[in-house]
Amino acid sequence: MDLSTLIRKNILNLKPYSCARDEFKGEASIFIDANESPFDTSINRYPDPLQKELKEVIAKIKNIPSENIFLGNGSDEPIDLAYRVFCEPGIDNVTAIDPTYGMYKVCADINNIEYRNVTLSNEYHLRSEKILEKVDNNTKIIWICSPNNPTGNLLDENEITKILNSFNGIVIIDEAYIDFAQQDSWITKLPNFKNLIVLQTLSKAWGCAAIRLGMAFASNEIINVLNKVKYPYNINILTQQQALIQLSKIEKTKENISYILQQREILSNELKHISIVEKVYKSDSNFLLVKVKNANATYNYLAQNGIIVRNRNNITLCDNCLRITIGLAHENEKLIASLKTFAANC
Ligand SMILES: *Cc1c(COP(=O)(O)O)cnc(C)c1O
Repeated sequence: MDLSTLIRKNILNLKPYSCARDEFKGEASIFIDANESPFDTSINRYPDPLQKELKEVIAKIKNIPSENIFLGNGSDEPIDLAYRVFCEPGIDNVTAIDPTYGMYKVCADINNIEYRNVTLSNEYHLRSEKILEKVDNNTKIIWICSPNNPTGNLLDENEITKILNSFNGIVIIDEAYIDFAQQDSWITKLPNFKNLIVLQTLSKAWGCAAIRLGMAFASNEIINVLNKVKYPYNINILTQQQALIQLSKIEKTKENISYILQQREILSNELKHISIVEKVYKSDSNFLLVKVKNANATYNYLAQNGIIVRNRNNITLCDNCLRITIGLAHENEKLIASLKTFAANC
């Protein structure tokens, strides 16, 4: 696969903005090159445009070289950048599964890229041959979200491999929830696939949704082109500092993950015994997709009692489904109590 044929011509030829921090590399004591304020407010200097220190920490945790890491303002940034790098507006298209995470379509619409999708099987399985049938010469990206949002399940490894092997474009696997799944990340397969981008985030298992830090892992060639197109200082210093602090708490994070997994098991079992619950789908993430008799009525009842879940009733294959994030034990207990009261009065 020749990546340069997948990259838009204007991006391939782009001479990126060269910032002061890029031009000089080395030791110095006086920095009067960037028109910053010389007065120390602790935030008067521009941050590292390539976030080297942070990437080295992530590289160790993820067991991948720094040069294969891109950091963005949430996962949203690499999602949007993928369109801007690979897809020619009004000409190219992408293919995704349905239902899945909403940002792939929003970013397609913003960038004026045709968005094609293929409905998952009734059991929420990926059907690689149906995806590949949608592909033509202008299909540049296939989006795969695994574990998938809102269905919660991991998608089959063999089906994904078939797509990676047959598709002459970029395959993006969004692993926002991988820390809650009993399966290795696709990061381990990056050396085998030059067209693979894996997305992860600090927003879920790492508990850092507020700082906005998304990660993309890919071949050095893909990382370089993402760096060329991003805003020069896309990750601010406060985010870089907080991320370093949170990433140092690996043991605590592992503890929190196993807490969530235990609660997921408890909540899932409790839900199955409530009369208005029709089905609790298997989850590899930090939420449960739950089919109830009447999603709108259940949603409204819970909201009146101060409990907000996500109503997915109008989404493909999710009729009467609620998406419920695993909370703390006392929150989950309140949810169960509330649902039991509602069921008793139905
Ligand atoms: C929550 C979520 C993300 C995370 O997005 P951030 O911008 O990193 O907060 C990414 N992908 C999916 C599928 C998600 O559900």
